[in-house]
Amino acid sequence: MALYVDGNNVKTAKPSDAFTKEWKPGQTPDHAGIYRCKGCGDEIASNKGVQLPSQNHKQHATSQGAIRWQLLVYAQQG
Ligand SMILES: [Zn+2]
Repeated sequence: MALYVDGNNVKTAKPSDAFTKEWKPGQTPDHAGIYRCKGCGDEIASNKGVQLPSQNHKQHATSQGAIRWQLLVYAQQG
């Protein structure tokens, strides 16, 4: 679970496709931010235009299914 201490600079976003779209390993997401694997819960920081980690980011148990990255925290850039 992502953590923060400065609540003045983090706020809840309106639901949007950016937060529901799932990304496969090696794909390049549209937005910079923190992505969470829906299978194992690992979180990573990803920069705009940079590929997400490859298939072997972590060995999943069968019950966890495939690696699916989902945007958890959107990093706003000016
Ligand atoms: Zn995972």
